[in-house]
Amino acid sequence: MLTRNPQDTWTQFVEFIEERCSSIEYENWIAPIKVIESTDKNITLEVPNIFVQEYLIDNYKNDLISFLPLKENGDPAITFVIAAAKKKTAGVTTESLAKETAPSQDNPSQAELKLNPQYLFNNFIEGAANQFVKSAAMGVANRPGKSYNPLFIHGGVGLGKTHLLHSIGHYIKDHHKKVRIQCITTEGFINDLVDNLRNKSVDRMKKFYRSLDVLLVDDIQFLQNRPNFEEEFCNTFETLINQNKQIVITSDKPPSQLKLSERMVARMEWGLVAQVGAPDFETRVAILQHKAEQKGLRIPQKVCFFIAERIFNNVRQLEGALNRLTAYSRLMGLDVTEEIVEKTLSELFQSVPQKKVCVENILKSVATIYEVKVGDLKSGSRSKSIAFPRQVAMYLAKELVGDSLMKLASAFGGKTHSTLLHSWKKISEQVEKDETLRRQIQMAKRNLEN
Ligand code: ADP
Ligand code: MG
Repeated sequence: MLTRNPQDTWTQFVEFIEERCSSIEYENWIAPIKVIESTDKNITLEVPNIFVQEYLIDNYKNDLISFLPLKENGDPAITFVIAAAKKKTAGVTTESLAKETAPSQDNPSQAELKLNPQYLFNNFIEGAANQFVKSAAMGVANRPGKSYNPLFIHGGVGLGKTHLLHSIGHYIKDHHKKVRIQCITTEGFINDLVDNLRNKSVDRMKKFYRSLDVLLVDDIQFLQNRPNFEEEFCNTFETLINQNKQIVITSDKPPSQLKLSERMVARMEWGLVAQVGAPDFETRVAILQHKAEQKGLRIPQKVCFFIAERIFNNVRQLEGALNRLTAYSRLMGLDVTEEIVEKTLSELFQSVPQKKVCVENILKSVATIYEVKVGDLKSGSRSKSIAFPRQVAMYLAKELVGDSLMKLASAFGGKTHSTLLHSWKKISEQVEKDETLRRQIQMAKRNLEN
């Protein structure tokens, strides 16, 4: 895609990206970059700050490679110049002056607290998988800064993390009038920081965040691989925590599994780490009944059971199913029956409840594929033809069976949990690169389903 005229390559790249990202993203990250010099060997770009530079490389390296000249090692040949380092007199346009003085509208540090009005403790249905985390959230909401700090909530997609975070926000707003509270997404924090860097108002932003009594942060996993933002966030975090100000964080993984600095992980583990699990059958039924009632939709209990048996690992999907059902039955003027459910929701049901996988079945499946005996897999044999399938079986056991490592390992004829973990790591890495292995593993999984 490299063109003859070096001047054009950047413009082409920008046009290419503009079509592929949101306008906010474009405004924040791409538009501020200026070409200082461009030859067929190198391009010099002026960026407003290091974050824009990092963002460009982190997100668009492959595209940059196809548009720009390359270095010998295959990286795009870009020289970055940070704008602030230059003398300020030259490029001050009226536009940039206007930007500096006008407060930005979507700047969370100046915006009021925005919470989803539906996300209240009252609307959050409890079950075994989320009772603990809900009580922890209520504890924090009752006595911000005085119980668990920080509270770290983690769990899979659509299981109610944001719902709980906003519930804390509502409760504090209603019960502790004087408390200064802000709720942000991690993306929001980053955009805010970039905006403020551009407008040279970072100090004001820092002051704002550091003057809060409660800071609610959603989806901290987006801080991964962004070391400069991470550092700024960590400083804010420490300032607040050191003054006993409450912090609540949500994440799709526990702290130890996040690719963040040790310092940040340690800080997040200081308080209470609580998991939201997938709701069990009874809770799913209760959630369906509660949501149906809110919508004024009448669903027979049998139908709730029917849906709850078929949608099981994500509350958002349960809700989606209900929305579709409501629309259909209102439109057609029909009562909700199992037949209607089957008709309107069948494609949401593609994932039938999986049979519980056990180590014995994994061993059988793997033994068939590699033509070895189950007994050999459980033995101490180190011959490669046995050891490798054993590692594959260990990998599958850790992936598919919910038991502790210790228990899993002992099912392999009394191996240790570190052997199991080692095998899992090794196969996880290999499976990325090895197509044959990937197919063998798929085959083993398919065997397990039958
Ligand atoms: P996450 O942030 O974990 O991805 P959300 O908090 O956005 O998930 O929840 C997804 C949807 O499911 C929301 O509409 C939320 O109200 C609903 N939800 C999740 N868990 C529950 C629950 N236990 N009771 C009622 N609604 C729930
Ligand atoms: Mg969320």
